[in-house]
Amino acid sequence: MRSPHQIDHSLKHNQPFLTSMTKKERYTRLIEYFQKAMPDANTELRFNNPFELLVAVMLSAQCTDKRVNMVTPALFKAFPNAKKMSEATKEEVLEYVKSVSYPNSKAEHLVKMAQMLVEEFQGEVPDNLDDLVKLPGVGRKTANVMLSVVFNQATMAVDTHVFRLSHRIGLVSEKCTTPLAVEKELVKNFPEELIFRAHHWLILHGRYVCKSQRPLCGECGIIDFCKEGLQRQKNVKKK
Ligand code: SF4
Repeated sequence: MRSPHQIDHSLKHNQPFLTSMTKKERYTRLIEYFQKAMPDANTELRFNNPFELLVAVMLSAQCTDKRVNMVTPALFKAFPNAKKMSEATKEEVLEYVKSVSYPNSKAEHLVKMAQMLVEEFQGEVPDNLDDLVKLPGVGRKTANVMLSVVFNQATMAVDTHVFRLSHRIGLVSEKCTTPLAVEKELVKNFPEELIFRAHHWLILHGRYVCKSQRPLCGECGIIDFCKEGLQRQKNVKKK
């Protein structure tokens, strides 16, 4: 089985070059492509239960999943549940997360998040947006990841990759200038049953191909129906 981020490049350029297309056609082509190229796309964070995923997602803000996966085994061993973490000091948690970005504030948020889980949610991770975003250090994006990955809800977490790719590919209008606006547009256009996968398609494609500073358009399997990719092809032809 392919790992989630491995792309089958044999799927590339097997359709005629398209100079213009409707948004609906673009969604259809994108879904067709990724269903073949990344049928099993999923989170790269390692976890065994909702609490562990919540901790991992909180640590992953502005940090790579690879780095987070390096620190979480020892962290989860030391603090296997909300109760254990709620009894720890920030300094004790910090010892385990020193190598991730913003370790001080993340350690503080983890302890406070665990304390609220114990005090208000019987130590369990809540399964709804309103309660999740009450937790210290948990914003809408983290909450949507939890709802999608753990609770199988059709939510779209818009991180920096999803936001960038949605605009580059032309999945959302230029008027969608906030993560929330992008989220609403994507949720409206992807079939409900594919929203979970679509989230991971965009993240993984952004992480490995459509990189922020230097998108690898020449190696990209969706260049023939990507708004920015088509524009770049045109620019090259003009030169
Ligand atoms: S063609 Fe280029 S801009 Fe478009 S998704 Fe691929 S890498 Fe990104």
